[in-house]
Amino acid sequence: MPTYQYACTACDHEFEAFQSFTEDSLTVCPECKGEIKKVYSAVGVVFKGSGFYKTDSAKSSTASVPAATTAPSTPPPAAPPTAAKSD
Ligand SMILES: [Zn+2]
Repeated sequence: MPTYQYACTACDHEFEAFQSFTEDSLTVCPECKGEIKKVYSAVGVVFKGSGFYKTDSAKSSTASVPAATTAPSTPPPAAPPTAAKSD
């Protein structure tokens, strides 16, 4: 059964209601009997935003990998042999 979220236009009271698709939408606020409206964005799945950020960061992290490997891998200069000083 879908969950509908309502918000009162009079007192800003927000609440959720379990209703079937065939059921009539609620129109009256249980708190103040004022007019309420459906909040469609909150129905069912709530997007917290973490999913989008996770996908975004994963995409950018994988993109940075080839960029790093393309850098010329020059071996570090060999340390000069320490000449044994003899006096
Ligand atoms: Zn209300």
